[in-house]
Amino acid sequence: MTTSLRNAVLAALTVIPTAYTARAQQTCAGDVGCTCEALHKALASVNGTLFPSDGATYKDIEDVNYSAACRLPAACIVSPKNAQDVSTAIKILSEAGTKFAIRSGGHNYISGFASIDEEGVLVSLSSLNSTELSEDKKTAKIGPGSRWQAVYETLVPEGLVVVGGRVGSVGVGGLMLGGGLSYFATQRGLAFDNVKSYEVVLADGSIVTASADNKYSDLYKGLRGGASNFGIVTSYELYTYPVDDFYVDARAYSLNQTSDFLHAFAKYQEEGQSDPLSSATVQLLETGPTILLLYNKPVQQAKAFDAFYSLEPYQPILPAFNGSLLDIMALTGSRFSTGEVRTYGETFTHKADVDLMIELHDIFTEETKNLPTDASAVWVPNAVPVSVATLGKQYGGNLLGLEEVPQQWYEWYITWTSPAQDTAIFDVSQRITQRCTEASEAKNLLLPYLFMNTAGKTQKVLEGYGAENVDFIKRIAAKYDPGQVFQNLQNDGFLIRNL
Ligand SMILES: Cc1cc2nc3c(=O)[nH]c(=O)nc-3n(C[C@H](O)[C@H](O)[C@H](O)COP(=O)(O)OP(=O)(O)OC[C@H]3O[C@@H](n4cnc5c(N)ncnc54)[C@H](O)[C@@H]3O)c2cc1C
Repeated sequence: MTTSLRNAVLAALTVIPTAYTARAQQTCAGDVGCTCEALHKALASVNGTLFPSDGATYKDIEDVNYSAACRLPAACIVSPKNAQDVSTAIKILSEAGTKFAIRSGGHNYISGFASIDEEGVLVSLSSLNSTELSEDKKTAKIGPGSRWQAVYETLVPEGLVVVGGRVGSVGVGGLMLGGGLSYFATQRGLAFDNVKSYEVVLADGSIVTASADNKYSDLYKGLRGGASNFGIVTSYELYTYPVDDFYVDARAYSLNQTSDFLHAFAKYQEEGQSDPLSSATVQLLETGPTILLLYNKPVQQAKAFDAFYSLEPYQPILPAFNGSLLDIMALTGSRFSTGEVRTYGETFTHKADVDLMIELHDIFTEETKNLPTDASAVWVPNAVPVSVATLGKQYGGNLLGLEEVPQQWYEWYITWTSPAQDTAIFDVSQRITQRCTEASEAKNLLLPYLFMNTAGKTQKVLEGYGAENVDFIKRIAAKYDPGQVFQNLQNDGFLIRNL
């Protein structure tokens, strides 16, 4: 097609949107540049599309992905400003048959999930970043492109909180789809169990609100585990809860205390964690274990943490203090920087058992001891209480298929800088997962669930939910995306096409 004819078509499309998408199909099929031009024109009023030729402005937006290994040069990046823009974009992408990736905060570690190379378009939701408290303050509507820091900055001064991420820089969109571990897990379950409704843009461009008690209740349930298989979520309506200040105690132990530390952690999980106001976030670093003890009440000490109070010696990372959730965000956020750092990690789950925890950490240490000198490895055995499964059921049910037993959800990752090391790091990661899975299985403690938010690229997250839940996801995807736009055109993800 000549440039002038294409321009004429594009000009016409900005005036008549439906004709536009039909024309996009006729004119752009197989031509991503043409699709980008169509998006550029259609979203001209919000200046919503950037091209690599936009230089540093484009590069800054490309580089939003947390891991440098996930930053790919999309043919263009489209940044819708509201659900209607998302609808326009998905119609154009779908009609043109152009590949795309969806990105909210970009914190996922898997290259190609929230990024795409020059064959496709990156849909960046970073402008959908508002937090709006309802008039009665019982719920807040939060855009997927928001970061938890901004969400809490809006809500905490009101004396309120939603169940969300533990680190301020992380995006809302991806964390909410993957379940979401918070500092309130014992008290409130997973983040997505606290969603009142989702606003979703479907493959045909329609904008729907799905809640437990409307005609999209099946889609609502599907989004509690079904990830990006059905549509693009443009708003999460979350229940708010009053929030008190916290007792905050951040400690570091030495490497040779690792076994004692894991015993204390197991004791906390057995006894202390039943106190719903408590949470303990552990990281085993190359220098030794660290722990963030939080109690959601301003106290001097909390009995829930007795196992750690009797574990001496330790280095205080800060003297224990009482502070708000925003103080905690300042503390945890300072630990993470991105720059040119590449990050990758995987996950697996087992029934709580201290000997197994120690054995698995030994495997991790052994496998990561020969990493390149600029690489480092972090091991995070999240203690997940029974209440996470129980509350999930009580709050309407999710698709994770969790067993009601205390369990460990692993979140381990390696950071490095040289792209030349990518394959080697990936191979080590897969070996760690395989060995840990086998060791857990040998003790009959392996659980099938895989935590989506920390899962690796070949891990079968959906299968871990069980056959019945997978069938449900397939049915909902077939109903709301009959043309399989999210299967065929979405670059990658925990998609049913990968089952
Ligand atoms: C420093 C750090 C701290 C973390 N802390 C926690 C924590 O406390 N709790 C926890 O549960 N997890 C945590 N995570 C993991 C985190 O939840 C995941 O990385 C999650 O994917 C991040 O969300 P995001 O919006 O940044 O994701 P993105 O990388 O933007 O997206 C993740 C996936 O979801 C899809 N997606 C994103 N938004 C949408 C949407 N609106 N509609 C449809 N599909 C969408 C993307 O296509 C992609 O496949 C942490 C990660 C890091 C790096």
